[in-house]
Amino acid sequence: VRRMKNGGITRRLGIMGGTFDPIHHGHLVAASEVAHHFNLDEVVFVPTGQPWQKADRTVSSREDRYLMTVIATASNPRFSVSRVDIDRPGPTYTIDTLRDISAIYGPDVELYFITGADALAQILSWRNTEELLELAHFVGCTRPGHTLRNPGLPRDKVTLIEVPALAISSSECRKRVAAGEPIWYLVPDGIVQYINKRGLYRDP
Ligand code: ATP
Ligand code: MG
Repeated sequence: VRRMKNGGITRRLGIMGGTFDPIHHGHLVAASEVAHHFNLDEVVFVPTGQPWQKADRTVSSREDRYLMTVIATASNPRFSVSRVDIDRPGPTYTIDTLRDISAIYGPDVELYFITGADALAQILSWRNTEELLELAHFVGCTRPGHTLRNPGLPRDKVTLIEVPALAISSSECRKRVAAGEPIWYLVPDGIVQYINKRGLYRDP
């Protein structure tokens, strides 16, 4: 929380959108790293409703993905989870996420939308680019070894940040579960237990 010149108080809020099927330590490290870099007051994890980029595979239920996100973030006082995308019918578009979060938190917050650098290029080239850039600062996370490219976007509105090497992806976690391989330490312990309890990802 910081005082503005006009006497008001502005908060810096990170928004970490994802399918989180399942959430893993790559997501958590990325959120933590960006929060540190931008001195964020809070990071809101927003599980997507129906991800429009992933129409080709069966995605776990919204409720399972929401609950896993809650379990994984519960111990961090600066992490929270929002239902705005899972409660909105139809495919999830970033513009709706930003509009809804902005309406909930009011005008005195600066929004930082956190995503993978690959996804970022897609989001900002899709549509509503101008309004997106008005609503939030965009942070693209890259993994070491990959080159940082800012695809012709305004530098004051888009930042690329290198996140410590974590070659973890949800797809790899799902494959491992289907193959009977362990995912301990790739995801938080509670997520391993939740996946087992609900029998998720057993059928490839
Ligand atoms: P999938 O393998 O199914 O594509 P994912 O691991 O990419 O899943 P998502 O829920 O799609 O997980 O990711 C949400 C966001 O987090 C995406 O923008 C993605 O680029 C980013 N992300 C995923 N894994 C990592 C990681 N290991 N390090 C940094 N960012 C990551
Ligand atoms: Mg991905």
